[in-house]
Amino acid sequence: MNKFISFIYRHRYDIFFSLLLVLLFSLLFFVFPKEETKNIIRIMENKTFDIRQNIITKDKKVRDDIVIITVDDPSYEYLVETYGDWPIPRSVYADLVEYVQNQNPKFIAFDLLFIKSLKRIPQSDEQLIQKFKKYQNTFTAMNFDDYNFELRTPPNVDKKITTNIKFETDKIKPTVFTNCRIIMEEIINATDRIGHINTPKSDDGFIRTVPLIVNYPEYNEDLSIKQMDNYLYMTVKLAIDYLNKYENANIQEIKIDKNNNLILGNRKLPLNENAEAILNWYGESGLINPDSFKYVSFWEVIKSIKAKETGNKEVLPNDFFKDKIVYIGTNVFSLSDIKTVPTSKYLPGVEIHTTLLNNIIDNNLIHKASLPYNVAISIILSIAAIFTVFKIRSVYVSIPLFSGLIFAFLYFSTYVMTKYNVWTWVVVPLILAIFCFVCSFIVKYLLKSRDFEYTYKLATTDGLTELYNHRFFQEEMRKKIDFAEKLKNNFSLILIDIDFFKKFNDKYGHQAGDAVLKHVAKTLKSCVRNEDFVCRYGGEEMAIILNNVNRETAVAVAEKICKTIASKQYELSPDLEVQITISLGVATYPQNGKTPTDLIEYSDKCLYKAKENGRNQVGFIEE
Ligand code: GH3
Ligand code: MG
Ligand code: MG
Repeated sequence: MNKFISFIYRHRYDIFFSLLLVLLFSLLFFVFPKEETKNIIRIMENKTFDIRQNIITKDKKVRDDIVIITVDDPSYEYLVETYGDWPIPRSVYADLVEYVQNQNPKFIAFDLLFIKSLKRIPQSDEQLIQKFKKYQNTFTAMNFDDYNFELRTPPNVDKKITTNIKFETDKIKPTVFTNCRIIMEEIINATDRIGHINTPKSDDGFIRTVPLIVNYPEYNEDLSIKQMDNYLYMTVKLAIDYLNKYENANIQEIKIDKNNNLILGNRKLPLNENAEAILNWYGESGLINPDSFKYVSFWEVIKSIKAKETGNKEVLPNDFFKDKIVYIGTNVFSLSDIKTVPTSKYLPGVEIHTTLLNNIIDNNLIHKASLPYNVAISIILSIAAIFTVFKIRSVYVSIPLFSGLIFAFLYFSTYVMTKYNVWTWVVVPLILAIFCFVCSFIVKYLLKSRDFEYTYKLATTDGLTELYNHRFFQEEMRKKIDFAEKLKNNFSLILIDIDFFKKFNDKYGHQAGDAVLKHVAKTLKSCVRNEDFVCRYGGEEMAIILNNVNRETAVAVAEKICKTIASKQYELSPDLEVQITISLGVATYPQNGKTPTDLIEYSDKCLYKAKENGRNQVGFIEE
């Protein structure tokens, strides 16, 4: 028990500062509400994800069998000029489907909605409907939202386009929507290759994930909810057909396994808790980046169709779409399908589809590292940070080493994303490592300064009495004289010698003598102010430097000390109480001397007088 207490006592400063740091750190969590701290960290993690994505896209290649037919500005102008206000008659899309299908593409997918438009032209719509019937490799989109305003009651969606999904985990809850922009039922009757195209944005408006599954209710007559149905993202539906057709995957049942992966044949698509996949980007849009997805303008295709009809030379080669997966989307601002993604501020929404499809086929969707892995990484980095402080003496080495460590860690996290498509934490390990580094520094220098204090004490005090030692006394005398000279004030010195101490030693032994010396030292300290210095001059002689004190006061203090010591009984053992007396001499700067030697000599002479006159008194020289 005693050992424990003395251990605590010896390490009281370490314990105090450690507790203080822990307290400060925990205070941070109280100051910032938990939710907001989490949000800040999530936003920062997202940003580091973006940076990593931007770094690694340089080495990524897109598939060359994906082509986008885009309604760009020239196409938009051409279409509006030719067919009047948007939307254009659906027969235009029907012609486009026919033209592309004639070249044997792998798939066609519309990132456009064919809703029950007010501008509906039934014969024109019918042509498109016929194409959906004819070509089962052609996909189209639907869209959910939550706008339950009066004019829009939530419609029921045909069961044909819902998907049965087996959930082996209860951790995944797809986003629930309450309304749906229903597309023409004739199209639903014609095809079940219809998927949703909802894409949620992160807090900062960037799109990083795509919900592979969303939930939408099947409603009763009175609009109460009958049950929840699962809807697949359009490109997931297309990917299933791709895998079945080109990789003989034979996907019958769709399930989400215990590890939150959507299983499509031999592809495991990692999902977050909202059934979203994290996209692995391929850099800036194919519109401006020749290494990314190939684009062809809608008007070029229309011109080619017209040229074919009239027998003129086609704008596009007549096998341009052969074996291609063809997406049709827009990149005109007024059609509002421009997204902000980690690698680009202006990315046509259709590239979210092509990116996802490319990710699924190439099996390179991003998955987040597991919590134990992230925690382990954080701990390792923090320990390494502490080591760089404690194991390396020089700051000039430990700081660059720590910076190097951080860089290595950042490089590593980028490498892991490139090589294994794993998103590891960066912000949390960095914050912890920097925190550990700074705290270690503080602790190290606190310990150092404490060592220094200890050494200083050793050098300036006397071990037995804990009074200042002779060296300190001499230095302090010199300093006092310098100050007193400059400030034109005075100070005094009292020299003290214990009476008949030799006899005392002879009678009670040196141990008892030592004990008395300690007691006397304590008593002396208690008789003077904090700013005065009580020193052990040597042997049983002690000296007191009285700061800023004139002779009169100094003599009074000396008289008081003399009386106090004489009145004390020192208990050396339970049955031994002793009493001693002292003799004192006083010298004051400047009247009794202007150098340390003079002052010591003067007080020594006074002391001698006290001894001569019978001891136990303050001595004076008659002048
Ligand atoms: P006086 O009244 O004339 O001062 O008589 P005194 O015996 O005290 O004579 P002096 O001052 O010359 O004697 C010093 C003695 O103090 C010698 C030594 O035995 C004793 N002494 C000095 N330092 C220590 C110490 O550290 N411990 C102990 N126990 N005794 C000490
Ligand atoms: Mg002496
Ligand atoms: Mg003596």
